[in-house]
Amino acid sequence: MLTPLKGKTVIVTGASKGIGKGIAAVFASKGANVAVVSRTMETAEKSAAEIREHGGIVQAFEGDVSSLGSMKKMAEDVAASFGGIDILCSNAGVFPNSSIENMDVNEWDLVMNTNARGTLFAIQACLPYLKTADYGRIILTSSITGPVTGYVGWSHYGASKAAQLGFMRSAALELAPYNITINAVMPGNILTEGLEEMGDDYIKSMAATIPMKRIGSVEDIAYAALFLASKEASYVTAQTIVVDGGQIIPESLDALA
Ligand code: NAP
Repeated sequence: MLTPLKGKTVIVTGASKGIGKGIAAVFASKGANVAVVSRTMETAEKSAAEIREHGGIVQAFEGDVSSLGSMKKMAEDVAASFGGIDILCSNAGVFPNSSIENMDVNEWDLVMNTNARGTLFAIQACLPYLKTADYGRIILTSSITGPVTGYVGWSHYGASKAAQLGFMRSAALELAPYNITINAVMPGNILTEGLEEMGDDYIKSMAATIPMKRIGSVEDIAYAALFLASKEASYVTAQTIVVDGGQIIPESLDALA
């Protein structure tokens, strides 16, 4: 059993829906003070209220990861409300589909500025508080797409998710002297509002290629993040946990049982 999170404050960026909301709900159920962050206060409030229905200390905050100023304000507000910051789940991300032939520089910038630069800004904003915590934890939501696999139309997305991991390895060295660890969860296909937009055919064909024969749940990711955030994970840094139902393992469709 992991040490309870009572008294620990966790920030989850991109927690208005999907994986972020799932992470926020699981951390709330484990007794943490949870800051639900979204670009708009209204969506953050809505998500926080839904999580709170199941109990827990959950508060909404506005924050755009593509703006350092916005992240700093968010971190300041969270620390003022809860008395500090112990854990940052840097989860916000976007995944528009665009072929290399048609990709506009603005699409490239949106994906990189949200997924990669957004990771930097969230960490920069939280760092002063994480440094004074008993022990600090940073958990990134990366992906199998980019670091391990590819998908047509996601070259920019894959680059941003691989960038997070390259960033993480050097960050771990800079953060270790402050007793802060940084690790990443690498989800496979997880059923979220974002993934639902890809359509039924995409979801069915993906599930068929996964050894566990299902798309993952947001809780599958949240529990991996929970371990990485725990006191017990104090000797784990710069590492990744792939949570994909075995999706990256088969060499071909014939290799699937
Ligand atoms: P989602 O359902 O589309 O949710 C995305 C979240 O990111 C929303 O809460 C959105 O909040 C937030 N967001 C977007 N841009 C933002 C910005 N500039 N500042 C702050 N928040 C922002 O996506 P998801 O599927 O849960 O994905 C979450 C993370 O998991 C992403 O990093 C994604 O790359 C990763 N991931 C997902 C899957 C999957 O299968 N779903 C697989 C691998 C990795 P607002 O719109 O309310 O601001």
